[in-house]
Amino acid sequence: MVKDVLVIGCGPSGMAQVNALAGVDEVNVRCFEMNDEIGGLWTWTDKVGDCHGSMYRYHQTNGLNEFLEFENYSFLEHFGHLITSYPPRAVMLDYLKGWTRKMGGDRFVTLNRKVTSVVYDDETSKFTVVSHDTKTDARHLDYFDNVVVCNGHFSVPNWVPPFKGMSDYKGMVIHAHSFRDAQDFQGMDVMLVGNGYSGEDIAMQCVKFGAKSATITYRSQPAHAESGFLDWPITERKLPTHFDAASGEFKFAEGQGLKPDAVIYCTGYKHTFPFLSEPLQLRTPNRLVPNTLWKGIVHPDNTKLYFVGMPDQYYTFTMFFAQAIFVKGCLEGKVAFPSKAEMLSDTAAWQVKEDEAHASGEHAQHHQLQLAHTNDACSLVGYKMRDDGDLLCQWQDDRHRNILKYRDCTAPSKVDGTVSLVYNVPWTQMFTDDKVSYLAWCKSQTQELVKVGTITLPQLAAPRAG
Ligand code: NAP
Repeated sequence: MVKDVLVIGCGPSGMAQVNALAGVDEVNVRCFEMNDEIGGLWTWTDKVGDCHGSMYRYHQTNGLNEFLEFENYSFLEHFGHLITSYPPRAVMLDYLKGWTRKMGGDRFVTLNRKVTSVVYDDETSKFTVVSHDTKTDARHLDYFDNVVVCNGHFSVPNWVPPFKGMSDYKGMVIHAHSFRDAQDFQGMDVMLVGNGYSGEDIAMQCVKFGAKSATITYRSQPAHAESGFLDWPITERKLPTHFDAASGEFKFAEGQGLKPDAVIYCTGYKHTFPFLSEPLQLRTPNRLVPNTLWKGIVHPDNTKLYFVGMPDQYYTFTMFFAQAIFVKGCLEGKVAFPSKAEMLSDTAAWQVKEDEAHASGEHAQHHQLQLAHTNDACSLVGYKMRDDGDLLCQWQDDRHRNILKYRDCTAPSKVDGTVSLVYNVPWTQMFTDDKVSYLAWCKSQTQELVKVGTITLPQLAAPRAG
């Protein structure tokens, strides 16, 4: 019997899912995407507040693109020439779209369609799905045998309680979700709360684009003291204790103060599924092994409901595709689901391993855990995700050597062995994110390297870029 399957969202996870299901005869797949373009967080919006996008201008990937590269679609195949290892956002979006065109997943996507309700009916064994056309507000009612949730988890800010006295602070206060352009902070003293990748990158963006100073404040431990930040005017200090209205300063435990013009909360995001009925909800913090989901994917109370892209991420695109292939295996009946108790106990055991990896403090243990957990799922459907451990270690070493220069480094492709280009402008001086000029330079540089015999490239079909 053909199954009707709904994929919710068409960012990288949803793309992975529709691509994995394209051409599967037993499945009639549809994908509802609420925005007017596929790509999820990799698309651009200048809206702030209640919107999906958390993307900012001048964004370049903060990981080597070589560990984002799909096994069945090299960058070379897409662009027709080499690119750098840390390309601008729009270049990665272009690649993702090309992959989705090649795999045929784009045929199943309905744009401007926001899912507002998903309820499971035990009598019919189907999901009732209500969705709205965001242009016309027309209401749609559909029924599906299976649902794959791919709405991402970096869109809803994790606001944390304000500092004592903060209601008297008169400066700008935003969450990273609404940070759009570092130029808005020119001439300002900026205080960042949280020192994850958003805190790090937004602080660097602000200073690069002309903020007077940036101070990263952390809750648990400093993350950058060892990473070359010494040469860069970003200080990192423990969270302030309170805001002192009399002096207009945030006060630190040692008694010193800071008088920022703006405070940017980089305190992460919350997994949020407002469209799922209560029994279908997923409640988890951002961790490598999400709470309750079997193999990080299957809802333990309803094995017809899957979540792709929910773990915290070292691996991203390739992990989403591996998870999507596991879901395909589930839909094809290749996976025997154990009891709910067994699923929960399996997840709990993986979470113990994750806690041990955190306790070790070894970066490599984190991504090894993610690879092992994903491949544990994939082994049930005869697939194996690529091991990019060496690339992830290189990336970490490059960052530690110099946080300002790691984006100028190169790496070999795991797919075709080609080595990425070194861009003609170092990251610290790159003040544009124009895709057209970037790709034009990459093309001419590749041609030059071929002409002088530095590299040889395979004969390529027409590229899909653009
Ligand atoms: P995150 O990784 O979840 O980090 C959240 C940070 O907030 C942590 O440092 C955490 O501190 C801190 N925090 C949480 N609650 C707090 C509280 N009550 N008080 C103070 N601090 C608190 O979130 P993220 O940094 O936004 O990163 C999200 C994702 O976006 C990551 O996958 C990242 O790679 C990606 N990203 C990519 C780029 C890029 O490609 N250029 C740029 C930015 C972000 P603790 O350590 O104490 O928990």
